[in-house]
Amino acid sequence: MIYLDNNATTQPAEQVVDAMLQAQRQWWANPSSVHRFGQQVRGQVEMAREELADLLGCKSREIIFTSGATESNNLALRGMTAARPDRRIILTTAIEHSAIREPCEHLAEQGYRFVHVPLLTGGLVDTDAFAQLLNEHADDLGLVSVHWANNETGVIQPVEQLAVMCKEKGVPFHTDATQSAGKIPIDLASTAISALSLAGHKFHGPRGVGALVVRSGARLVPQQRGGPQERERRGGTENSPGIIGLGVAAQLAGEYLASDEPARVASLRDRLENTLLQRIDGAVVNGVEAPRTSNTTNIGFPHLESEAILILLSEKQVCASAGAACSSGSLEPSPVLLAMGVPEPVAHGSIRLSLSRFTTEQEIDQALEIIPPAIERLQATLPQ
Ligand code: PLP
Repeated sequence: MIYLDNNATTQPAEQVVDAMLQAQRQWWANPSSVHRFGQQVRGQVEMAREELADLLGCKSREIIFTSGATESNNLALRGMTAARPDRRIILTTAIEHSAIREPCEHLAEQGYRFVHVPLLTGGLVDTDAFAQLLNEHADDLGLVSVHWANNETGVIQPVEQLAVMCKEKGVPFHTDATQSAGKIPIDLASTAISALSLAGHKFHGPRGVGALVVRSGARLVPQQRGGPQERERRGGTENSPGIIGLGVAAQLAGEYLASDEPARVASLRDRLENTLLQRIDGAVVNGVEAPRTSNTTNIGFPHLESEAILILLSEKQVCASAGAACSSGSLEPSPVLLAMGVPEPVAHGSIRLSLSRFTTEQEIDQALEIIPPAIERLQATLPQ
């Protein structure tokens, strides 16, 4: 199998699996229990919090463990807007993950309004338009939410700059960093970001565990009540094995970012992308105009159907994805690509190939032997 779907999820690192198994077998007490056994597990959970805080450059007490990025995003959107109920506008983009877009739509049904910031070519936020919208709505803005790196294209938004602009206007800034945490260096202490979401499984940690970081001073109304856990910001017995696994993944991600490995992954991605562009007529890279995470390429093959490409690649043992969704029998192109200005025939035939630190040179060699003839085969079926 050639696994090029790491933006969907990553293989958990061996050390993560080992730590989680040990937690399930040995450290299964409730971390809220006062007895020594419970307090030993509490110690492990707090160590994991420290590891994650080290990766993100924040304070450990700013971290709220959640069930993943979807919950973190929901908590940020609902909890941060609820803290300023007089402010009813959310500024965001049309190219967020559905875990931001859908809660925004739901909030809109409850009397909120969301405004989309215009984008430049390549899908980058237009910072001038952003500044204008901030000026226009400053007094009514409850929250600004812009993702750090895009899950479909890897395009990296200038979130640090946007956060500074928000701070100047006294508006909290949240970022969905699910596709950047563990992939690019993050030092929250040196930014004006108020809150950040992530999920462990995107950087070789476990699925079903994530975090929302809420910086000191930022306000949040808890959305899940029922216990004092996570400093009363998220009730419910902690998923301690998951949290312990996330801590190990954070430590490993820190070591990865400090090594030469990101450059190796970048060169594999570049070789994959450049060779596909050379070998396949009409192939285009979506988001190429902007800075991107070094593990992601989103390539469009005009007039093809991404679903057909993915099925053919899957038959040849290549795992890839598309932003496309199959709704009521008709294949819809990715709304993210369309909102970025990618023409429809290209968006329809776009696929995402995403690497990780586990991706090998041999896998890329094999992918390069498989993908061009597969695309040519599909292109040959197009009407002339
Ligand atoms: N946000 C982004 C940018 C993502 O890529 C994902 C997962 O694909 C999520 C949020 C949701 O993560 P989870 O399904 O782990 O809650």
